[in-house]
Amino acid sequence: MDVQGLRKAFGELEVLRGIDFSVARGEVVCVIGPSGSGKSTLLRCVNLLEEPSAGRVTVAGTEVTDPDVDIDRVRRRIGMVFQAFNLFPHLTALENLTIAQRRVLRRDRDEAERVARANLERVGLSDKASAYPAQLSGGQQQRVAIARALSMDPELMLFDEPTSALDPELVGDVLAVMRALAQEGMTMLVVTHEMSFAREVADRVVFMDGGVIVEEGTPEQVVGAPQHERTRTFLARVL
Ligand code: ADP
Ligand code: MG
Repeated sequence: MDVQGLRKAFGELEVLRGIDFSVARGEVVCVIGPSGSGKSTLLRCVNLLEEPSAGRVTVAGTEVTDPDVDIDRVRRRIGMVFQAFNLFPHLTALENLTIAQRRVLRRDRDEAERVARANLERVGLSDKASAYPAQLSGGQQQRVAIARALSMDPELMLFDEPTSALDPELVGDVLAVMRALAQEGMTMLVVTHEMSFAREVADRVVFMDGGVIVEEGTPEQVVGAPQHERTRTFLARVL
């Protein structure tokens, strides 16, 4: 994944003011930064949930920002996990995982269910296939949301503060699933305030403030020995 000269304005408000960075295949990059710095907008520009005002975004060799690109095709290869789990409340966990496979990837029922069960197992929820979202804890719902994204065979997974809405005792299970994914070689771009996760799992950390990347480097560099005052101020508040 590659972002060059990415800008995004909402009317007069410049939210992204020239972002350049890339995530190599199999790499895990964590994005940190204060509220309002443009982290969610950056993720949303990568899969064109927001249209960039300027710049280029390329995912797995396809330029997403090319006006001629079939964005639905690109989007189905990008898994996105939000703070809110966004599961269909009237569908079971298994059905939440099969519906897009069947409608978008045109998989038949048997194939979709096979993939769904494999991914429920991957997130430790084999026994919850017939549960409805309301019968699951927040952490379990988020793991179903991750399994749903994985069922589409994504080339890139975007996570936007996936544990921020969870009770503290449920955060660990979700981070463990993400850590396992990272170890399996998934390409991941993760917005998070979980500094221990960033330190242990990220190959690189990007610190954003005011719509720009202030600094980036290894976790040891950015979290362990930040060079910029703005990074130090932010870390002092979250650590
Ligand atoms: P973060 O995720 O780092 O907290 P966001 O990307 O959500 O930051 O938001 C950055 C800024 O962009 C904020 O000032 C926010 O109010 C503004 N913003 C985000 N989405 C929109 C939108 N759709 N319309 C107008 N302003 C927006
Ligand atoms: Mg956000």
